[in-house]
Amino acid sequence: MTARMYYDADADAEALRTARIAILGYGSQGHAHALNLRDSGYDVRVGLPESSRSRDAARGEGLRVMTPEQACAEADVVMVLTPDTGQRALYESAIAPHLQRGDLLMFAHGFNIRFELIQPPAGVDVSLVAPKGPGHLVRSTYVAGQGVPCLFAVHQDATGAARARTLAYARGIGGTRAGVLETTFAEETETDLFGEQAVLCGGISSLVKAGFDTLVEAGYQPELAYFEVMHELKLIVDLMYQGGLSYMRYSVSDTAEYGDYVSGPKVVDERTRETMRSLLSDIRDGTFAQRWIDENAAGRPNFVETRDEEQRLPIEQVGAALRAKMSWLGAKTVPGSGSAGPAAAGTPPGRLAGLPTASAPPSPLSRGAPPAPPSGLPPAASPAEPVPSAAAAGPAEPLQVPTASPAEPVRGGTS
Ligand code: NAP
Ligand code: MG
Repeated sequence: MTARMYYDADADAEALRTARIAILGYGSQGHAHALNLRDSGYDVRVGLPESSRSRDAARGEGLRVMTPEQACAEADVVMVLTPDTGQRALYESAIAPHLQRGDLLMFAHGFNIRFELIQPPAGVDVSLVAPKGPGHLVRSTYVAGQGVPCLFAVHQDATGAARARTLAYARGIGGTRAGVLETTFAEETETDLFGEQAVLCGGISSLVKAGFDTLVEAGYQPELAYFEVMHELKLIVDLMYQGGLSYMRYSVSDTAEYGDYVSGPKVVDERTRETMRSLLSDIRDGTFAQRWIDENAAGRPNFVETRDEEQRLPIEQVGAALRAKMSWLGAKTVPGSGSAGPAAAGTPPGRLAGLPTASAPPSPLSRGAPPAPPSGLPPAASPAEPVPSAAAAGPAEPLQVPTASPAEPVRGGTS
């Protein structure tokens, strides 16, 4: 599949102009999709259980709020923006009974379709629009007249209009202002899981912990170790975000850049790459999904225990104490992290009960190499110079300390 970006001109809003759209969930993604679609002139209702703490917030924005069942009964387009682990139960109780021939069922992450936890009937269109950013950005960029890039995919096209309707949806949330890229449910799900495990969440946090432990074991002050391997990470990541590895390396000192080249490949070596390939294999053959499904079915004992242990790590305690003194930083704490209970970070146990097991088919998808590993943890800034290489796309700028962006606890997909 060649990557083509689709923009506003490629997406006809008319395809959903008369559609009745139900947004299920009003969390990170749900609030952004509902408000953006409404402001784009689409007919939106929000489906939330009577007990949901978000009902008032949605009503406060002038949205129609009803139960998921009522919303699905009214709607011919249903977007599922609830936590992935509860989607199958929600599908069976509220969505499936009201699905009619020609309806469009949508997701923002392909997990439940890819691993066949949800198997919609043949007469229904099934697609996804997955913003590559958290919901608060989907909303704030839209309000600012821009958008967040999205992936979209059509899993099932019963009406012949699935693709047009999906692009119209992406346009309604502002995605086609920034550009949307076509993918498949398999590719979106597998790359998303791989990215969060190998690099974004698993890889980075393990790299940080190992760096911290190495320094502290060698007798250096934990506070200093924290600054070197965790605090400064934000600066480095922001540089990479703005101008790739080249701009990051251009912005740090030559010593840091040299250390990156000679030491990075030793930290992430062939063994690590082999491990990454093995993670990807577990994702694609369904091993990881089955483990996570079983873990949920058992009430998440290992998940909760590990979260508890991780929240008690020395680097977390040292970091919390330091951040509490950085008034400019907007320090965040995890809800309930004092006791590190299972209710922390928005995962009430009730939502997890009864997640069924499923056998996952092997993926037919074959895709290229894993993403480049993170490399180096250099400190220090260098003075401004013109960008020497034509390959560096960004303008020549001095090292800038970017303003802090709101940090959100990682929930659901990482996108
Ligand atoms: P979230 O912030 O945890 O919000 C979930 C929402 O669903 C909450 O409003 C919750 O109600 C509601 N909810 C829970 N159970 C429900 C039920 N049975 N019926 C109706 N509503 C229910 O979730 P999210 O992060 O937006 O994730 C939603 C989907 O988007 C997931 O598929 C995720 O993989 C995908 N996604 C997320 C991101 C991201 O950055 N977060 C990016 C791309 C894709 P309460 O408000 O009462 O808790
Ligand atoms: Mg993700």
